[in-house]
Amino acid sequence: MTRTVLKFGGTSVASPTALESVARIVRETEGERVVVVSATAGTTDALHAAAREAGNGEASVAERIVSDLAKAHANLVADLLGVGGGDVLGQITDLTERTISLLRSVAILHECTPRSLDAIVTYGEKVSAPIVAALLSARGTKARSLSAEGLIVTDDAFGHANPLVEETKTRVQQEVLPHLRDGTTVVITGYVASTVDGVTTTLGRGGSDYSAAVLAAALHADTLLIYTDVNGVMSADPRIVHGAKSLERVSYAEAAELSYFGAKVIHPRTVLPAIEARIPVRILNTFAPEHAGTTITADPVFDGSVVKATTSLGGLGLITVQGAGMSGVPGFAARVFDTTAAERVNVLMISQSSSENSICLVVPADGADRLRRALERMFSAELRRHDVERVEVEAPVAIVAAVGEGMRGTPGVAARVFGALGRAGVNVIAIAQGSSELNISLVVAEAERDKAVRAVHEEFHRS
Ligand code: ADP
Ligand code: ASP
Ligand code: MG
Repeated sequence: MTRTVLKFGGTSVASPTALESVARIVRETEGERVVVVSATAGTTDALHAAAREAGNGEASVAERIVSDLAKAHANLVADLLGVGGGDVLGQITDLTERTISLLRSVAILHECTPRSLDAIVTYGEKVSAPIVAALLSARGTKARSLSAEGLIVTDDAFGHANPLVEETKTRVQQEVLPHLRDGTTVVITGYVASTVDGVTTTLGRGGSDYSAAVLAAALHADTLLIYTDVNGVMSADPRIVHGAKSLERVSYAEAAELSYFGAKVIHPRTVLPAIEARIPVRILNTFAPEHAGTTITADPVFDGSVVKATTSLGGLGLITVQGAGMSGVPGFAARVFDTTAAERVNVLMISQSSSENSICLVVPADGADRLRRALERMFSAELRRHDVERVEVEAPVAIVAAVGEGMRGTPGVAARVFGALGRAGVNVIAIAQGSSELNISLVVAEAERDKAVRAVHEEFHRS
C-alpha cells in the first residue's frame, strides 16, 4: 500500500472553492494519506499582529483580531458544512477562548516572550486542521485531525525550533500509524510542534512545508506532495515576472538554493528531511491539480538551461566593515562572526573584497543597526587607530539570486548577469558566488529589486 503525505498551504485552505478542491484531491489519492495543513492565508500574520498589540498592553485590540479570525473561520465552516459543522464550531470556540486568555496575560505583563508567541500563533493551524478533517469526512473520506504537539518533537528554539528526529519518529509512528492502518486519513497541523515536555513551539514562518517533510520522513512515506497556489516552482516569482514558466524538474540542491534566496514556494529547510529519506517531492497547484507542477529530484537535472530560476529576498540590510588596517590581520573575520553570533543575527550572505579592505554582511534589516553598534564596540580600538575606517549600514536592500545546475563550469554567466543589470540601469551594491557554483547572488537597493529580477530573468529565459 502506498503512503502519501499531502501538504496544503494557506490559500489552499482559505476559501470554500479551494477547500472543495482539497477534498477532491485527497479523495482521489490512493493508499494511506496524511494531510498537513497551514493556517488560512493571512491568519498567521494577523496572529503575530495580535501578539504585538498584546505585548504593548493593547488587550482589546488583540482580542478583536482573534475574534475576527474566529468569525471568519466560523463562516467558512457554515459555508462548507452548514448545520453539520457543530462539532468543529465548538472546537474553534474553545481554541479562541484559550488564545484570548493567553493574549490577556501577555497584555498584563506587557511582554510577549518567544514562548508565548508560539502558543498564540499556532491558533491558525489548530483551527484549520479540524475544519479540513470535518470537510473530508463530510465528502466521504474518513478523517480525523491531530495537533502536531506531541508528534513533532523539537528543541526549545521558539519561533524556529529544530525537530529531534528519533523522538519524532517514535511518536509519529505510535500516534499516526494505527489510524492509517484503520483506513483513516489523518489531518495534522503544519508549523506546530512541541518540546519533549510538551511546550508548544513552531518551525519558523512558512514552516508547514517543513512539518510535511518531517512527517513524510518519520512515516517512510512514498511521496510528498506540496500543494500551493501556483504551478510548482517557476523560473521567477510570478508576482514579479508575468512570463515566469513552471519548471518540470529541479534538483534538491537547486530547490535548496531557491528557497534560501526567497522562493517562498518552498520553505528553506523542507528539502533536507526529504533528501535524507530519498522521498520524491512534488510541488503542485490546488487550483489546477491536473498540471504536472515540479518534481524535485535527487540528482542534478540538466535541461540545457544555464540559469533555471531567478529569485529575490527583500527586507535586508548590508553591513560593511571597512579599513586599510584590516588586510592580513589574522582573526579579523572571526571577530566579525563572533559578534554576529553573540547578537544572534542571522547572516544570509558574506562577501570579502580580494584586497581584504572590507567585509560585507547581509542580514535582516531589523537587526542591522543593532549589529552595527555591536561591531563598533568590538572594533572600538581599531576604529580609534583608523585600522577600521567605518562600519556602515545600507538598508533596505534585497538579494537577487540566479540559480541553476547548468551554471557549474559554464563560463561567462556572471558577465551576462551584470550585463543585463547594467543595461537595465540597476546598480549592484555587492556580489557573492556560492561555493557550490549553483548560484550567483548580488545585492541591490530594495527599490530596484523587481527591476533586477526581471532583467536577469529576461536575459536567461528569452524565447
Ligand atoms: P503556501 O501558502 O501554499 O505555502 P506560499 O505563499 O508560501 O504558499 O508560496 C507560494 C508563493 O510563492 C506563490 O504564490 C508565489 O507568489 C511565490 N513564489 C516566489 N518565488 C516563486 C517561484 N520561483 N516559483 C513559484 N512561486 C514562487
Ligand atoms: N502558517 C504559517 C505561516 O504563515 C506556516 C505556513 O503557512 O507554512 O508562516
Ligand atoms: Mg509557504
